[in-house]
Amino acid sequence: LKAQTAVSPTDEAETLAKAAERHLIQPWPSAGEIGDEARGLIGSGDGIYVTDAEGNRLIDGPAGMWCVNVGHRRRELADALHEQAMALSYNSPWYTMNEPSALLAERIAGHAPGDLNHVFFTTGGSSAVESALRFMQFYNNVRGRPQKKTILSRDGAYHGSTYLSASLNGSSRGRDWMDIADDLVVKLSCPDPFRRPLDMSIEEFSDMLVEEFADAVKRIGAENIGAFVGEPVMASGGVIVPPPNYLPRIAAICRENDILYISDEVVTAFGRMGDVFASKDVFGIEPDIITFAKGVTSGYFPLGGMVVSDRLFAELRQSNHADAMYAHGLTYSSHPIGCAVALKNLDILEGGLLEHAREVGVYFMEQLKTLEELDLVGEVRGTGLMACIECVADRESKNPLTLDTEVGRRIDQHCQELGLLLRPLIHMCVMSPPLIITKEQIDEMVAILREGISRTMEDLRKEGLW
Ligand code: PMP
Repeated sequence: LKAQTAVSPTDEAETLAKAAERHLIQPWPSAGEIGDEARGLIGSGDGIYVTDAEGNRLIDGPAGMWCVNVGHRRRELADALHEQAMALSYNSPWYTMNEPSALLAERIAGHAPGDLNHVFFTTGGSSAVESALRFMQFYNNVRGRPQKKTILSRDGAYHGSTYLSASLNGSSRGRDWMDIADDLVVKLSCPDPFRRPLDMSIEEFSDMLVEEFADAVKRIGAENIGAFVGEPVMASGGVIVPPPNYLPRIAAICRENDILYISDEVVTAFGRMGDVFASKDVFGIEPDIITFAKGVTSGYFPLGGMVVSDRLFAELRQSNHADAMYAHGLTYSSHPIGCAVALKNLDILEGGLLEHAREVGVYFMEQLKTLEELDLVGEVRGTGLMACIECVADRESKNPLTLDTEVGRRIDQHCQELGLLLRPLIHMCVMSPPLIITKEQIDEMVAILREGISRTMEDLRKEGLW
């Protein structure tokens, strides 16, 4: 392991921290720290690396927030952004259109499964999910079934920070202190094979989940359910890869009961699983709507969207309310700069990066799995280039560690000292590196993780916490 040479923090970084503490509101602050918190400064990025305030180079383990798929500092993307800004920086999508958005919609429809051929662009993932849910409401109202609005979601899900999308979120930490549209949402179990009942096989677990879904449809009544919304792999919930065949079975129940299947691919699309979309190519499902964001521009510009099927549009056109207005649009829908960046990003993905991601994804998981030798590690799981290390107090019983051990944060701190940035999630660490990562860089990442976890184990033992 290479030791990182640290230089003392610059005055500039301290000035910035003070400005942030006085004036910047960060996402997800606690009430005690709201508006009064500086976070670690990232000064620059290059490839799979970012540089912190002290000048230390760190592997960007989470690729920002699962988004910098083609890596930092890509000249092609910077040029596309610049050229589009100089050609046309903005136009109103209410009464005009631009070239990049039409071309991008066509390219995305070409990659989307089945008859998903119509793309609405938003500003990110929350607005994509919100748009899909409001579309479901519109669709059912226009079709004369205004009661068909209940949304099925799952514990552990994350779908955004707007009112409806946040109402689907499945972690109580993220829900307890905000009002949500409780009357519209029904939560089902998290399809986490690691946390299945100890005496249950994966197959039995999958059967149980499917049965629970079917029972919920019977209990609530298909005539009252508008949509199921699900991430193919639950990302922020801890990279939960569902049991094989579970998603196609849920999709079949949705289809039989005229319930829209909204596949939230905000994280899984644009290469993270080795394909542009994972729903069909990786999981064998053809949803009615797919939502995307993040990797569509590799985070170089805020952009998201939804892809909607021909079938839904045909039904709307044939309804008795063809004049009904889908009164939904964003000032920045179809933003020309975002769409131009996304076109270039797609060129890079199609130009060999998808194949590369598929290949190194297998190696990534194989190597990470070796960390299961460490006593603190309950499970290493994942698929494609996204993975999670879940720590446990006891491997036999899989007992979770108590919240105050903050194991994720401890591992992250040690790893940062060694040159790797992680995303800590209570007792878990999540990783989704840029897709350009090489096998040698994966080796470096895993070596740092091994050392970081070992140091954490020592600390916990010394402090009598484990
Ligand atoms: N859906 C999923 C699956 C996500 O992971 C996220 C963000 N992490 C969102 C939606 C919300 O996206 P955004 O933060 O861009 O609004």
